[in-house]
Amino acid sequence: MDRLDEIRQKCLVCRECPLCRYRTNVVFGVGDPESELMFIGEGPGENEDKQGEPFVGAAGRLLDDMLEMIDLDRSRVYIANVVKCRPPRNRDPLGEEQSACRHWLNSQLEIIRPKLIVCLGRIAAAAVIKSDFKITREHGLWFDIDGARAMAMYHPAALLRDESKRPETFVDLRALRAEAKRVCEHLY
Ligand code: SF4
Repeated sequence: MDRLDEIRQKCLVCRECPLCRYRTNVVFGVGDPESELMFIGEGPGENEDKQGEPFVGAAGRLLDDMLEMIDLDRSRVYIANVVKCRPPRNRDPLGEEQSACRHWLNSQLEIIRPKLIVCLGRIAAAAVIKSDFKITREHGLWFDIDGARAMAMYHPAALLRDESKRPETFVDLRALRAEAKRVCEHLY
């Protein structure tokens, strides 16, 4: 068993915060652990909780479309969330839940060591890039964090709710592809 699998097995039985009471499945993460590109969302929703996989359902299909637009697919990136268990009624994960869960994401980042990180939505950007992240003003901008380049895009669920945000996301996706071509050796 490799190190990421070992961490995953431990995470699947985690009861370190109250979110364990509400979950059906822990949603650890999926994709290529060797990928140079990692996407991070805020936490599982109802479909993700049922299936144990991040970004399934309508928002997941939109994420697949976004990946296809830049000639990628799920098998070539890694996808994880800030919290691994579903907050009740899809509320934002609380600060203490994010803090309790953070070591799992940190382990994923340490093992995968992505060159590029894309945070999907404000909560993930605030957790990973900087606490006062303003998604409307700062999406699409690159930040240097712990040896990686990181940017945020609107969460696919936000793009489903408000289609007017989609053109800005196309621009962000083009910026992501350009940066990936510049710094990644194995994506394109
Ligand atoms: S959300 Fe994270 S810390 Fe809380 S029980 Fe789930 S895996 Fe453990």
